[in-house]
Amino acid sequence: MNKQVIWLLGLGGTVSMTSDANASVRPTLGAQQIIDGISLSSDEIDLFAEDFLKLPSASLSLNDVISLAKRIDDLADEGASGIVVTQGTDTLEEVAFGLSLLLGQRIPVALSGAMRNPSQLGADGPANIAAALKWVTSSAAANTGVTVVMDDEVHAARHVQKMHTHRIRSFASPGPGPIGAIVEGTPHMWTTEKTASYRLPSLNDDVHAAPVLIVQVALGDTPVLLENAEALGYRGIVINGMGAGHVPSEWVPVIERVAARLPVILASRIHEGPVLSSTYGFSGSEKDLLERGVISAQDLNGLKARILLSFALATHDDKDDLRSTLQNVISSSGRSQVD
Ligand code: GLU
Repeated sequence: MNKQVIWLLGLGGTVSMTSDANASVRPTLGAQQIIDGISLSSDEIDLFAEDFLKLPSASLSLNDVISLAKRIDDLADEGASGIVVTQGTDTLEEVAFGLSLLLGQRIPVALSGAMRNPSQLGADGPANIAAALKWVTSSAAANTGVTVVMDDEVHAARHVQKMHTHRIRSFASPGPGPIGAIVEGTPHMWTTEKTASYRLPSLNDDVHAAPVLIVQVALGDTPVLLENAEALGYRGIVINGMGAGHVPSEWVPVIERVAARLPVILASRIHEGPVLSSTYGFSGSEKDLLERGVISAQDLNGLKARILLSFALATHDDKDDLRSTLQNVISSSGRSQVD
Protein backbone atom coordinates (compact mmCIF):
# COMPACT_ATOMS: atom_id res chain seq x y z
CA MET A 1 0.00 0.00 0.00
CA ASN A 2 1.23 3.48 -0.88
CA LYS A 3 2.01 5.64 2.11
CA GLN A 4 -0.14 8.73 2.57
CA VAL A 5 1.75 11.99 2.12
CA ILE A 6 0.77 14.53 4.76
CA TRP A 7 2.15 18.04 5.21
CA LEU A 8 2.04 20.05 8.42
CA LEU A 9 2.22 23.75 7.62
CA GLY A 10 3.02 25.93 10.64
CA LEU A 11 1.75 29.52 10.85
CA GLY A 12 2.64 30.28 14.49
CA GLY A 13 0.11 30.79 17.32
CA THR A 14 0.06 29.59 20.93
CA VAL A 15 0.85 26.02 19.85
CA SER A 16 4.29 27.31 18.77
CA MET A 17 4.91 29.77 21.61
CA THR A 18 7.59 29.65 24.29
CA SER A 19 8.42 32.08 27.10
CA ASP A 20 10.72 35.06 26.81
CA ALA A 21 12.66 36.62 29.70
CA ASN A 22 9.45 38.27 31.00
CA ALA A 23 7.63 34.93 30.99
CA SER A 24 5.18 36.08 28.32
CA VAL A 25 4.98 33.86 25.24
CA ARG A 26 5.71 34.45 21.53
CA PRO A 27 5.83 32.16 18.47
CA THR A 28 9.24 30.44 18.33
CA LEU A 29 8.76 26.73 17.57
CA GLY A 30 8.92 25.60 13.95
CA ALA A 31 6.63 23.05 12.31
CA GLN A 32 9.21 20.25 12.67
CA GLN A 33 9.62 20.95 16.40
CA ILE A 34 5.83 20.77 16.76
CA ILE A 35 5.81 17.34 15.06
CA ASP A 36 8.73 16.18 17.21
CA GLY A 37 6.55 16.80 20.28
CA ILE A 38 4.04 14.17 19.16
CA SER A 39 4.73 10.46 19.25
CA LEU A 40 3.28 9.17 16.00
CA SER A 41 2.60 5.48 15.96
CA SER A 42 1.66 5.20 12.28
CA ASP A 43 4.29 4.13 9.75
CA GLU A 44 1.66 4.42 7.01
CA ILE A 45 2.20 8.13 6.55
CA ASP A 46 5.07 10.22 5.31
CA LEU A 47 4.88 13.41 7.30
CA PHE A 48 6.61 16.61 6.14
CA ALA A 49 6.86 19.91 7.96
CA GLU A 50 7.10 23.45 6.63
CA ASP A 51 7.25 26.81 8.38
CA PHE A 52 4.82 28.79 6.29
CA LEU A 53 4.76 31.76 8.69
CA LYS A 54 5.56 32.27 12.36
CA LEU A 55 3.09 34.86 13.64
CA PRO A 56 0.47 35.41 16.31
CA SER A 57 -2.74 34.76 14.38
CA ALA A 58 -3.97 38.34 14.89
CA SER A 59 -1.23 39.40 12.45
CA LEU A 60 -2.22 37.04 9.63
CA SER A 61 -3.79 38.72 6.60
CA LEU A 62 -6.35 37.69 4.00
CA ASN A 63 -3.56 37.72 1.42
CA ASP A 64 -1.70 35.20 3.65
CA VAL A 65 -4.80 32.98 3.36
CA ILE A 66 -4.67 33.30 -0.44
CA SER A 67 -0.95 32.36 -0.48
CA LEU A 68 -1.60 29.44 1.88
CA ALA A 69 -4.41 28.12 -0.35
CA LYS A 70 -2.05 28.35 -3.34
CA ARG A 71 0.63 26.40 -1.43
CA ILE A 72 -1.88 23.70 -0.45
CA ASP A 73 -3.12 23.46 -4.05
CA ASP A 74 0.49 23.01 -5.23
CA LEU A 75 1.16 20.33 -2.59
CA ALA A 76 -2.01 18.50 -3.69
CA ASP A 77 -0.75 18.65 -7.31
CA GLU A 78 2.51 17.10 -6.10
CA GLY A 79 0.70 14.20 -4.40
CA ALA A 80 -0.12 15.34 -0.87
CA SER A 81 -3.16 13.47 0.40
CA GLY A 82 -3.88 15.63 3.43
CA ILE A 83 -2.76 18.83 5.16
CA VAL A 84 -2.64 19.94 8.78
CA VAL A 85 -2.29 23.67 9.37
CA THR A 86 -1.25 24.81 12.85
CA GLN A 87 -1.95 28.40 13.84
CA GLY A 88 -3.28 30.66 16.57
CA THR A 89 -6.84 30.11 17.63
CA ASP A 90 -7.78 33.80 17.57
CA THR A 91 -8.41 33.72 13.81
CA LEU A 92 -8.65 29.96 13.27
CA GLU A 93 -12.28 30.09 12.13
CA GLU A 94 -11.59 32.90 9.65
CA VAL A 95 -8.57 31.21 8.06
CA ALA A 96 -10.47 27.90 7.90
CA PHE A 97 -13.43 29.49 6.15
CA GLY A 98 -11.18 31.48 3.76
CA LEU A 99 -9.32 28.29 2.81
CA SER A 100 -12.59 26.44 2.31
CA LEU A 101 -13.71 29.06 -0.21
CA LEU A 102 -10.49 28.75 -2.20
CA LEU A 103 -9.93 24.99 -1.96
CA GLY A 104 -13.42 23.49 -1.84
CA GLN A 105 -13.10 19.78 -1.10
CA ARG A 106 -9.90 19.17 -3.02
CA ILE A 107 -8.06 17.32 -0.21
CA PRO A 108 -8.73 17.08 3.53
CA VAL A 109 -7.26 20.09 5.34
CA ALA A 110 -7.50 20.26 9.14
CA LEU A 111 -6.62 23.41 11.06
CA SER A 112 -5.61 23.07 14.66
CA GLY A 113 -3.76 24.83 17.44
CA ALA A 114 -3.64 25.07 21.19
CA MET A 115 -5.34 27.01 23.94
CA ARG A 116 -2.44 26.30 26.37
CA ASN A 117 1.11 26.95 25.25
CA PRO A 118 3.75 24.17 25.47
CA SER A 119 5.10 25.42 28.83
CA GLN A 120 1.71 25.24 30.59
CA LEU A 121 0.42 22.27 32.57
CA GLY A 122 -1.96 20.23 30.44
CA ALA A 123 -0.83 21.82 27.17
CA ASP A 124 -3.34 20.70 24.55
CA GLY A 125 -1.32 21.27 21.35
CA PRO A 126 0.14 17.76 20.90
CA ALA A 127 -3.25 16.02 21.42
CA ASN A 128 -4.99 18.46 19.05
CA ILE A 129 -2.41 17.97 16.32
CA ALA A 130 -2.37 14.20 16.73
CA ALA A 131 -6.19 14.27 16.37
CA ALA A 132 -5.94 16.50 13.27
CA LEU A 133 -3.45 14.04 11.72
CA LYS A 134 -5.80 11.16 12.50
CA TRP A 135 -8.64 13.05 10.84
CA VAL A 136 -6.89 13.99 7.57
CA THR A 137 -5.58 10.44 7.13
CA SER A 138 -8.99 8.83 7.70
CA SER A 139 -11.47 7.81 5.02
CA ALA A 140 -14.11 9.82 6.93
CA ALA A 141 -12.36 13.06 5.94
CA ALA A 142 -12.43 12.32 2.20
CA ASN A 143 -15.20 14.75 1.22
CA THR A 144 -15.16 17.15 4.13
CA GLY A 145 -12.78 19.77 2.73
CA VAL A 146 -11.47 22.22 5.31
CA THR A 147 -12.19 21.46 8.95
CA VAL A 148 -11.07 22.59 12.40
CA VAL A 149 -9.96 19.84 14.81
CA MET A 150 -9.79 20.92 18.45
CA ASP A 151 -10.42 19.06 21.69
CA ASP A 152 -11.17 15.79 19.85
CA GLU A 153 -13.99 17.38 17.84
CA VAL A 154 -14.13 18.03 14.10
CA HIS A 155 -15.93 21.17 12.89
CA ALA A 156 -16.89 22.32 9.39
CA ALA A 157 -15.17 25.60 8.41
CA ARG A 158 -18.56 27.14 7.67
CA HIS A 159 -19.96 26.74 11.18
CA VAL A 160 -17.03 26.71 13.60
CA GLN A 161 -16.57 29.59 16.07
CA LYS A 162 -14.23 30.34 18.93
CA MET A 163 -16.48 30.63 22.00
CA HIS A 164 -14.11 31.23 24.91
CA THR A 165 -10.92 33.27 25.38
CA HIS A 166 -8.82 30.75 27.31
CA ARG A 167 -10.51 27.44 28.10
CA ILE A 168 -9.41 24.24 26.38
CA ARG A 169 -12.99 23.64 25.29
CA SER A 170 -13.32 26.81 23.28
CA PHE A 171 -14.56 25.75 19.82
CA ALA A 172 -18.12 24.91 18.82
CA SER A 173 -20.37 24.91 15.76
CA PRO A 174 -23.43 26.72 17.14
CA GLY A 175 -26.58 25.27 15.58
CA PRO A 176 -25.50 22.22 13.57
CA GLY A 177 -22.78 21.01 15.97
CA PRO A 178 -19.52 19.26 15.02
CA ILE A 179 -19.30 16.97 11.99
CA GLY A 180 -17.27 14.33 13.78
CA ALA A 181 -15.10 13.36 16.70
CA ILE A 182 -11.95 11.44 17.50
CA VAL A 183 -12.87 8.67 19.94
CA GLU A 184 -10.14 6.46 21.43
CA GLY A 185 -7.86 7.65 18.65
CA THR A 186 -10.33 6.75 15.90
CA PRO A 187 -12.18 9.30 13.73
CA HIS A 188 -15.98 9.12 13.80
CA MET A 189 -18.27 11.02 11.48
CA TRP A 190 -21.66 12.37 12.55
CA THR A 191 -22.80 13.64 9.16
CA THR A 192 -21.53 14.97 5.83
CA GLU A 193 -24.49 17.29 5.38
CA LYS A 194 -22.91 20.13 7.29
CA THR A 195 -19.91 20.40 4.97
CA ALA A 196 -20.99 22.59 2.10
CA SER A 197 -19.27 22.16 -1.24
CA TYR A 198 -18.30 25.28 -3.18
CA ARG A 199 -15.13 26.70 -4.60
CA LEU A 200 -14.54 30.27 -5.72
CA PRO A 201 -12.56 30.94 -8.90
CA SER A 202 -8.82 30.52 -8.20
CA LEU A 203 -7.01 33.40 -6.65
CA ASN A 204 -3.28 33.76 -7.10
CA ASP A 205 -0.55 35.92 -5.66
CA ASP A 206 -1.46 38.74 -8.07
CA VAL A 207 -5.08 38.83 -6.96
CA HIS A 208 -5.40 40.63 -3.67
CA ALA A 209 -8.22 40.39 -1.20
CA ALA A 210 -10.55 43.38 -1.58
CA PRO A 211 -11.02 45.70 1.42
CA VAL A 212 -14.38 45.02 3.07
CA LEU A 213 -15.63 46.93 6.10
CA ILE A 214 -17.48 45.08 8.85
CA VAL A 215 -19.68 47.37 10.94
CA GLN A 216 -21.01 46.16 14.27
CA VAL A 217 -24.34 47.86 15.03
CA ALA A 218 -24.50 48.99 18.67
CA LEU A 219 -27.17 50.63 20.78
CA GLY A 220 -27.43 54.33 19.97
CA ASP A 221 -24.54 54.33 17.47
CA THR A 222 -24.56 56.40 14.27
CA PRO A 223 -23.74 55.14 10.74
CA VAL A 224 -20.91 57.64 10.23
CA LEU A 225 -18.31 54.98 9.39
CA LEU A 226 -20.65 53.34 6.91
CA GLU A 227 -21.35 56.68 5.25
CA ASN A 228 -17.63 57.23 4.68
CA ALA A 229 -16.70 53.65 3.76
CA GLU A 230 -16.34 54.17 0.01
CA ALA A 231 -14.25 57.32 0.48
CA LEU A 232 -12.02 55.31 2.84
CA GLY A 233 -11.37 52.78 0.06
CA TYR A 234 -13.70 49.95 1.06
CA ARG A 235 -15.26 48.01 -1.83
CA GLY A 236 -17.90 46.15 0.15
CA ILE A 237 -19.68 46.22 3.51
CA VAL A 238 -20.85 43.67 6.04
CA ILE A 239 -23.34 44.93 8.62
CA ASN A 240 -23.34 42.89 11.82
CA GLY A 241 -26.91 43.76 12.73
CA MET A 242 -28.80 43.37 15.97
CA GLY A 243 -30.87 40.25 16.59
CA ALA A 244 -32.41 38.81 13.43
CA GLY A 245 -30.71 41.51 11.27
CA HIS A 246 -31.84 44.90 12.53
CA VAL A 247 -30.45 48.45 12.58
CA PRO A 248 -31.71 51.75 14.05
CA SER A 249 -34.10 53.46 11.61
CA GLU A 250 -31.74 56.42 11.10
CA TRP A 251 -29.27 53.98 9.47
CA VAL A 252 -31.76 53.04 6.73
CA PRO A 253 -31.25 55.93 4.25
CA VAL A 254 -27.47 55.59 4.61
CA ILE A 255 -27.60 51.83 3.98
CA GLU A 256 -29.83 52.38 0.94
CA ARG A 257 -27.39 54.95 -0.51
CA VAL A 258 -24.36 52.73 0.13
CA ALA A 259 -26.08 49.58 -1.21
CA ALA A 260 -26.74 51.37 -4.52
CA ARG A 261 -22.97 51.69 -4.99
CA LEU A 262 -21.33 48.80 -3.10
CA PRO A 263 -22.37 45.23 -2.21
CA VAL A 264 -23.75 45.20 1.34
CA ILE A 265 -24.27 41.93 3.27
CA LEU A 266 -26.49 41.80 6.35
CA ALA A 267 -25.32 39.39 9.07
CA SER A 268 -26.20 39.17 12.75
CA ARG A 269 -24.04 40.01 15.76
CA ILE A 270 -25.66 37.08 17.61
CA HIS A 271 -23.63 33.84 17.91
CA GLU A 272 -26.33 31.49 16.73
CA GLY A 273 -29.27 31.54 14.31
CA PRO A 274 -29.81 32.99 10.83
CA VAL A 275 -30.77 36.47 9.70
CA LEU A 276 -34.55 36.32 9.23
CA SER A 277 -36.22 37.46 6.02
CA SER A 278 -39.89 38.22 6.51
CA THR A 279 -40.84 38.52 10.17
CA TYR A 280 -40.29 42.18 11.06
CA GLY A 281 -41.52 45.10 8.95
CA PHE A 282 -40.40 48.19 10.91
CA SER A 283 -37.93 50.70 9.48
CA GLY A 284 -34.50 49.10 9.91
CA SER A 285 -35.87 45.55 10.10
CA GLU A 286 -34.44 42.63 8.13
CA LYS A 287 -37.34 42.80 5.64
CA ASP A 288 -36.91 46.54 5.15
CA LEU A 289 -33.15 46.21 4.52
CA LEU A 290 -33.47 43.22 2.18
CA GLU A 291 -36.03 45.17 0.10
CA ARG A 292 -33.43 47.94 -0.28
CA GLY A 293 -30.89 45.70 -2.01
CA VAL A 294 -28.96 44.33 0.96
CA ILE A 295 -27.91 40.64 0.69
CA SER A 296 -28.75 38.33 3.60
CA ALA A 297 -25.84 36.37 5.12
CA GLN A 298 -28.41 33.85 6.40
CA ASP A 299 -26.51 31.73 8.96
CA LEU A 300 -23.05 32.82 7.84
CA ASN A 301 -21.59 35.03 10.55
CA GLY A 302 -20.28 38.51 9.85
CA LEU A 303 -16.57 37.62 10.11
CA LYS A 304 -16.98 34.90 7.50
CA ALA A 305 -19.31 36.96 5.28
CA ARG A 306 -16.55 39.59 5.16
CA ILE A 307 -14.04 37.03 3.86
CA LEU A 308 -16.49 35.72 1.28
CA LEU A 309 -17.20 39.24 0.01
CA SER A 310 -13.51 40.15 -0.04
CA PHE A 311 -12.50 37.09 -2.09
CA ALA A 312 -15.54 37.26 -4.38
CA LEU A 313 -14.92 40.96 -5.12
CA ALA A 314 -11.33 40.09 -6.07
CA THR A 315 -12.50 37.80 -8.87
CA HIS A 316 -15.85 39.20 -10.05
CA ASP A 317 -16.08 42.42 -12.06
CA ASP A 318 -19.70 41.99 -13.01
CA LYS A 319 -22.23 43.04 -10.31
CA ASP A 320 -24.79 40.34 -11.18
CA ASP A 321 -22.16 37.57 -11.26
CA LEU A 322 -20.88 38.75 -7.89
CA ARG A 323 -24.37 38.72 -6.40
CA SER A 324 -25.17 35.24 -7.66
CA THR A 325 -21.83 33.84 -6.39
CA LEU A 326 -22.45 35.39 -2.98
CA GLN A 327 -25.96 33.94 -2.88
CA ASN A 328 -24.78 30.48 -3.99
CA VAL A 329 -22.12 30.29 -1.30
CA ILE A 330 -24.35 31.76 1.40
CA SER A 331 -27.17 29.31 0.69
CA SER A 332 -24.89 26.23 0.54
CA SER A 333 -24.82 25.86 4.32
CA GLY A 334 -25.71 22.18 4.33
CA ARG A 335 -29.13 23.09 5.74
CA SER A 336 -32.17 22.41 3.59
CA GLN A 337 -35.79 23.46 3.82
CA VAL A 338 -38.27 20.65 4.39
CA ASP A 339 -41.97 21.06 3.40
N1 GLU B 1 -5.27 32.25 21.98
C1 GLU B 1 -4.47 32.36 20.80
C2 GLU B 1 -3.95 30.98 20.42
O1 GLU B 1 -4.49 30.06 20.95
C3 GLU B 1 -3.48 33.45 20.94
C4 GLU B 1 -2.43 33.57 19.91
C5 GLU B 1 -2.83 33.50 18.47
O2 GLU B 1 -4.01 33.48 18.10
O3 GLU B 1 -1.88 33.46 17.67
O4 GLU B 1 -3.12 30.69 19.63
